[in-house]
Amino acid sequence: RQFSVDDLEDLGEIGRGAFGAVNRMRYTPTGVVLAVKRIRSTVDERQQKNMLLELNVVVNCQCEFIARSYGALFKEGDCWICMELMDTSLDKFYRIVYHHLHEAIPEVVIARIALATVSALDYLKEKLGMMHRDVKPSNILADRRGRVKLCDFGIAGKLIAKTRDAGCRPYMAPERIDHQRMTEGYDVRSDVWSLGISLYELCTGRFPYRQWGTMFEQLEQVVKSDPPRLTDIRYSEEARSFANLCLTKDVKKRPKYRQLLQHPFLLESAALDADADIAAYFCSVLNRTPEEAQLADLLAAVHKVILC
Ligand code: ADP
Ligand code: MG
Repeated sequence: RQFSVDDLEDLGEIGRGAFGAVNRMRYTPTGVVLAVKRIRSTVDERQQKNMLLELNVVVNCQCEFIARSYGALFKEGDCWICMELMDTSLDKFYRIVYHHLHEAIPEVVIARIALATVSALDYLKEKLGMMHRDVKPSNILADRRGRVKLCDFGIAGKLIAKTRDAGCRPYMAPERIDHQRMTEGYDVRSDVWSLGISLYELCTGRFPYRQWGTMFEQLEQVVKSDPPRLTDIRYSEEARSFANLCLTKDVKKRPKYRQLLQHPFLLESAALDADADIAAYFCSVLNRTPEEAQLADLLAAVHKVILC
């Protein structure tokens, strides 16, 4: 059966990125509720075919740490990407924890997030020959069952890359910004840097670089300044060493996934049977989400639309 836009019933907006909105939608033939990302796309029919072919690869991917993709539709120049609906993304989640509940994310949870993300990135590289290129907290999703999944690579990333001037925040590794090195091709370790920035944010509740100035000035800081360092003693030596290892400024010295997966921080997390605790933690935060956090979410969405 051909997947059609007419089979999707809109249940409202979940979030908004720089390139379009993500809505909750019910697929009426089965009743399943999905997340549908709508991106304005200007690709021609041949490109659409290529993208759908590529999407098949993603649809067939079986990794518990990657959000499922169900397919894409093109409608009047828009591309609709249908994917598994999760309860939250980690950017929203950490804002609730730090800014509204005035707590910190526990280390076991950080470890689980790091393990899930590195496993997903390793799977993408080894099994699908892909790199992510847009690792950041809003692209790591979580749910009340304690599952953590990476999203927004492949087709979504490709469509976005076309329109991207620069994201709203520089998660980009120094070597990606340095123009002479731009031609060297993308290295998995650039994704490792972005993971380091994301972990720093999840551990401290704030982005490591200054947020003011032009985009150019913000990127310049990344290239010119020392890399961010996670020093918060709330987290163990292992946790800090892991995040700081990802934030190695010299790409040649920065580890790849195999090495990261051998790090004691991830090995311990893999050995620990903490599923129930992780699920309970996500439930407790999501069930306590204060109204002001929901309002802040709305304001952030409006802000994004104005800025980008
Ligand atoms: P960005 O990732 O830059 O924030 P997106 O357009 O990719 O922009 O997503 C907008 C928001 O929608 C995200 O921040 C996230 O909170 C939410 N979102 C995206 N995909 C899903 C999903 N599959 N399940 C739940 N929420 C999602
Ligand atoms: Mg995203």
